[in-house]
Amino acid sequence: MSDLTRTVITGGAGFIGSHLCDHFVGLGHEVICIDNLLTGSRDNVAHLESNDRFRFVLHDVTRFIEVPGPVDNVLHFASPASPADFERLPIQIMKVGALGTHNALGLAKAKKARFLLASTSEVYGDPEVNPQPESYLGRVNPIGIRGVYDEAKRFAEAITMAYRRVHAVETRIVRIFNTYGERMQLDDGRALPNFISQALRGDPITIYGDGLQTRSFGYVSDLVRGLDLLLNSEVWEPVNIGNPNEVTLLDVVKEVLELTESESELTFLPLPPGDPKVRRPDISRARDLLGWSPTVGRAEGFKRTIEDFSRRLESQGA
Ligand code: NAD
Ligand code: UDP
Repeated sequence: MSDLTRTVITGGAGFIGSHLCDHFVGLGHEVICIDNLLTGSRDNVAHLESNDRFRFVLHDVTRFIEVPGPVDNVLHFASPASPADFERLPIQIMKVGALGTHNALGLAKAKKARFLLASTSEVYGDPEVNPQPESYLGRVNPIGIRGVYDEAKRFAEAITMAYRRVHAVETRIVRIFNTYGERMQLDDGRALPNFISQALRGDPITIYGDGLQTRSFGYVSDLVRGLDLLLNSEVWEPVNIGNPNEVTLLDVVKEVLELTESESELTFLPLPPGDPKVRRPDISRARDLLGWSPTVGRAEGFKRTIEDFSRRLESQGA
């Protein structure tokens, strides 16, 4: 019997999942990356494929998940996450949040593994309080366009707690706020990938609404460090992980245009229904219980992300 720590990462070929694969392979774990490549890419983990402690499994986690041998950790990150996909893939989003989470929990239960759920600030919906503490119960419209994602994640949190209460699975829940970085899809549809790709191509920057809505953008390395701390803590209550530095989208666009030295024009398009007006994490719980706080600011994080996008756009001949 091997005494390697074995970690399953669903959605491991996605943006965040691939950084988690890097992190845990780097720590010496054996990593089993399960992904159906719906919104991810094998390119994101290509550099790991020659490592004998890394395995890619092409599988849809809405179907039974079979992993031979022991498993120590199940990190459930499979799910489309871009609002552009809320209209394009609504049923896949609901299925992976519900059936996929059920299967991932079943795997954790069978293997007596620790389970970490990737939840989201979207469980707070279009919030009436700012910043949002974990105690805020949210304002979600179940029949709105965003409802498929918000309710799938709320269901996922609820079934995670049920498995904890009924089956004593060791569960962790992270509520991730807007996170960006290298390997986001160029055509992902979220604000930063859109702005950076548009700026680098010299295309018009698409601003939805007046651009005065706010978000708080966190860099992926800070998130990964927080996830590791949470996984290894005894904190079972949901924990917000995000950068509380709140900014309007118009200011984000200005920063991206400066860093890319782009002369793209701005084009204002209608605000999608249900688009939250403000969003900012209250990170007191992560600070107090995990000793976590973000360290990478937008200037540095945007620079690294822009370099990555620039390289990929060049290799596409764009
Ligand atoms: P992503 O789209 O890059 O990654 C999601 C991955 O899940 C993709 O590789 C996709 O192919 C895979 N996937 C989707 N459905 C699947 C299925 N049925 N079976 C197997 N694999 C499947 O998105 P991301 O930004 O890396 O998000 C990862 C997780 O983090 C998601 O659960 C998302 O809801 C959550 N999250 C992300 C953010 C963020 O700002 N990036 C914020 C909150 C929550
Ligand atoms: N947004 C925008 N232009 C774009 C994409 C997004 O103005 O090309 C806005 C979007 O309406 C939202 C904010 O940027 O107010 C963040 O959007 P994102 O898609 O990144 O995710 P969200 O935070 O809404 O889940």
